[in-house]
Formats: sequence, C-alpha cells, structure tokens
Amino acid sequence: MFNWKIFKDELEELKNNGLYTYIRTLEGPQGAWLTIGGKKVLNLCSNNYLGLANDERLKKAAVEAVEKWGVGPGAVRTIAGTLSLHEQAEKELAKFKGAEAALLIQSGFNANQAVIPSIVGKQDLIFSDELNHASIIDGCRLSGAKIIRWNHLDMKDLEEKLKAYTEARRRLIVTDGVFSMDGDVAPLSDIVKLGEKYDALVMVDDAHGEGVLGPYGRGIVAHFELEGKVDIDIGTMSKAFGVVGGYVAGNATLIEYLKQKARPFLFSSAPTPPDVGAVLAAVKVLEESDELVKKLWSNADYFKKEMKNMGFDIGHSQTPITPIMLYDAKVSTEFSKKLFDAGIFAQSIGYPTVPKGKARIRVMISASHTKEDLDFALEQFEHVGKELKVI
Ligand SMILES: *Cc1c(COP(=O)(O)O)cnc(C)c1O
Repeated sequence: MFNWKIFKDELEELKNNGLYTYIRTLEGPQGAWLTIGGKKVLNLCSNNYLGLANDERLKKAAVEAVEKWGVGPGAVRTIAGTLSLHEQAEKELAKFKGAEAALLIQSGFNANQAVIPSIVGKQDLIFSDELNHASIIDGCRLSGAKIIRWNHLDMKDLEEKLKAYTEARRRLIVTDGVFSMDGDVAPLSDIVKLGEKYDALVMVDDAHGEGVLGPYGRGIVAHFELEGKVDIDIGTMSKAFGVVGGYVAGNATLIEYLKQKARPFLFSSAPTPPDVGAVLAAVKVLEESDELVKKLWSNADYFKKEMKNMGFDIGHSQTPITPIMLYDAKVSTEFSKKLFDAGIFAQSIGYPTVPKGKARIRVMISASHTKEDLDFALEQFEHVGKELKVI
C-alpha cells in the first residue's frame, strides 16, 4: 500500500500552524440554539438565515414528498430521473427569481461547475472578482478559459480589464452577489452596464442574497431591479431556504442549452424528492409573507448597531453577515474559544479563507434569534472583548 506518511506529515503541519479545521458536531437539529458536546450554545454560525432548516412546514413537505415520490431519484435527469416534482420546483424558482426558466442542480457548488464550463471554453475570457467563492473559481478553472481577476468591487478596474482583454470568442463577467466573509454586496447595476457596454455575459451567484436581499427575499437581482438584465443567476437551496441543492435561473435558451451540456446535470443523479419538496415549501413561505426577511434584517441591524456602539470593528457589511474584525489570527481563535465557554458558538475565520492579517469572528444573524438571544450574545462579546483588550 502507498505510504501515507507524507499526508500525515502535512496534517501535522496544518495543526502546528493553526490552520487545521476541527469539526464541531451538532447533537440536535439546526436552530438558534445548538447542542454541541452536551453543551447548549447560541448559534451565530449557520447560513440558516430564516430559521427554515428545522421549520415544521418544510419538514412536513419533505415527509410528504418521501411518501409520494420515495427517497431517491433513481437516475440522472436525462435518463429516468426527472420527476414532475423537479419541474414544478423549477417553475416556482424561476417565478421567485423573476426569470424565464430555472434548472435544479444538486448543489450551489455544482451549479457553478454546471454553468461556467458549459458556456465558456478555451477560446473565451472570464472576468472574475478577486474574492469570488471557491465554487466559481473551480468552475472557471474547469472551463479552460483565461481568467482575469478584477480588484474586489472595483468597477474602474473591471472596465479597464474589459478594455484591455478583447481577444476572445465570448466574454463572461462573474461575481458573488453577497460576499460571504465581509457581507458586502456586488455593484450589480454597474456590472450589468459594463456587460452591455462591452458585450459580455453577466453571471451572479446569489447564494447569500436569496431569502435576504430584495422584496420578499427574492435576491440581488430583485434588490437592484434588474429582472431580465442578468444573464445567469445562480441560486442555492442550502442557505436561507434551509434545505440543500442548487439551481440556475435565466432565459429559456440558457436553460435548454444547459440541459444538453451541463455535466453535473448529465452525469450526476437528480436532487432527491424530500429536498425538492422542502424547497417548494420554502418558496411558498417566502411568497406568502416577508415577515421572516424583515425579522432577519431588524435582528441584524440591532446587533450591528450595538456591536459598533461597544467599539467593535465590524467591517463594512451591508447584510446580516457581520464580521467582527480582530485581524490577528491568534486573538481571533482565542476570542472564539472564550465565547464558546460562555455559551456562544461563533467561529473564528482565518487564512486561507480570508487574507493573512484579516482574521475575524464571523457572526451570522438569523430570523430565528430572539431579542434575548441577541442581548445574551452582546453581553458575552462585551465581556470577552474587554478581557482580550479588543474594546
Ligand atoms: C455557499 C455558497 C455556494 C455553495 O452552495 P451549496 O448549495 O452549499 O453547494 C456557492 N456559491 C456561493 C457564493 C456560496 O456562498
């Protein structure tokens, strides 16, 4: 057998450098409070923005889908794996996003692998924000197109690069909608204008935007009133929707084309009935009421305001993602540990997820938090912040 020592050594090195990821195991369902290691802790880490991951309506829909459709799709979509349940969800998701059509993919990560290599190749150019999500970066690499990175959110830089790099069959501009580590938002209206001016396709990954931005949480495209102007809108069912899975929304030609070309669609089995059933229920919840979205924002506004008043540096987030900037990785790790001892689960994030010297505690606010929960969190942050002389 192969000598695995070289890998073991590398793992040791990660541990020695503080770069090893230790996994926390939840002993109960997702929610505002979690049980970890027998201890009840306030959850400030999940992407469960609206608290839907353990919502009774979604659970019921998932169980009903299992009763009606079984547990597995049995095949890839193009052979025998397409259920009318999938098509119903695609119709509802397209409507929710204000798009002509949509296509379910197994995950948001896979959706980027499905789209990018299908629409661009070796003869093409991709313009990509330097802080784009790993799944966009991998999709770009997989396509074989030349990748040109523009400085984060810098429209002047993007325009200069669009002017400088023109030799291509076609050009694609791709960006995260909401950037998950800082909570800042892509200037999508300006990006769309540049796309029109320089005849480039525009693609946005709305993973942290849907269920959060725009009226009724319809996402970044609705937030900027750009319906029909963004060529490709990538969605995930794994964040605010509280389930798991991904999708692509766009015009009918794009979706028809992807059904012929997208490899995760052609060669990996379809999303499962309970996931799709639950997503349909999530979309229904959002279409019926914006109560959860409003609660999410009022929680986030309250938490951010109080943290700022206490003297914390909370970066420049425009969304419920709240980075507590500590810069030093050791301080950040220590801060997170002390919070955990005090009953708060808020993870430290360091290099390579964020640049060196930019370590932080990333707080994810949810509609499922009560005012008491947030006050408890603020108290503990103040306590640890003073102890570590951060404030
Ligand atoms: C989380 C995330 C994904 C991955 O979505 P999954 O459905 O969990 O695979 C893709 N893109 C962005 C921008 C994300 O934040």
